[in-house]
Amino acid sequence: MKIIDAHCHLESEEFENNLDEIIRNARDAGICKLITSSITPGQWEKSKSIAEKYKEVEFALGVHPWYATPSDLDMLENLKDAKTKGAAAIGEIGLDEKIENPSIEIQTKIFEIQLSIAKEINLPVIVHCRGAFDELISSIKKIGVPEAGGIIHSFSGSAGLADSLIKLGLSFSIGGILTYKKNKKRIELLERIYPNHFLLETDSPDIPPIHLNGKPNVPSNILFNLKAASDLLGIKQEDIAETTTANAVRIFNLVI
Ligand SMILES: [Zn+2]
Repeated sequence: MKIIDAHCHLESEEFENNLDEIIRNARDAGICKLITSSITPGQWEKSKSIAEKYKEVEFALGVHPWYATPSDLDMLENLKDAKTKGAAAIGEIGLDEKIENPSIEIQTKIFEIQLSIAKEINLPVIVHCRGAFDELISSIKKIGVPEAGGIIHSFSGSAGLADSLIKLGLSFSIGGILTYKKNKKRIELLERIYPNHFLLETDSPDIPPIHLNGKPNVPSNILFNLKAASDLLGIKQEDIAETTTANAVRIFNLVI
């Protein structure tokens, strides 16, 4: 079984001293690729060097909405070299209305610049969005989506919202929230996005499976997310692994 963790943060301090072990455990769990996403320009070099060190790791360059500052504006120009530097995606980028700072205005400005660069160099995007889907859709309609597409990570919206985003060229990666208490909305969402628009992720070190709450999440925990998806969809784990891996390979142009 080959699994891809479409979204994690191996740059995190949590993994400073144990990355060899984390990657080894990921490999043992069947993970053949991990896409690590930077959150600030200060992490970009680190993302690239982690990917150079471990053949399983691909990297994404971007500025996360929580860390968007006007001082990033000069740095964003460098994202135009992301593809030549070997990045598989532009991310983690997005909009978050559940936080007050940075303001949605500065978040939108930084997001739209990154989205337009992704489109220009045709790298897929890895998008974070909380409580700002109207704004996200309006930015996307204004700028467009790269031909390569992209994913909304940790998506927990409705099946109807998923439909609108699929029409715009996006897919969805989901992780720990798959293990939360079963509900009809999540089953409907999964049934709508499976098979062609569903990817697995962990968002490590964040959003651990429910029974590991309070501990830092690790990529090998993706097996709990896979099992939860299998229970919700009533489809064999092997089939979900194969399908989600094929989706990640297609979107991020990976060689596995
Ligand atoms: Zn993330």
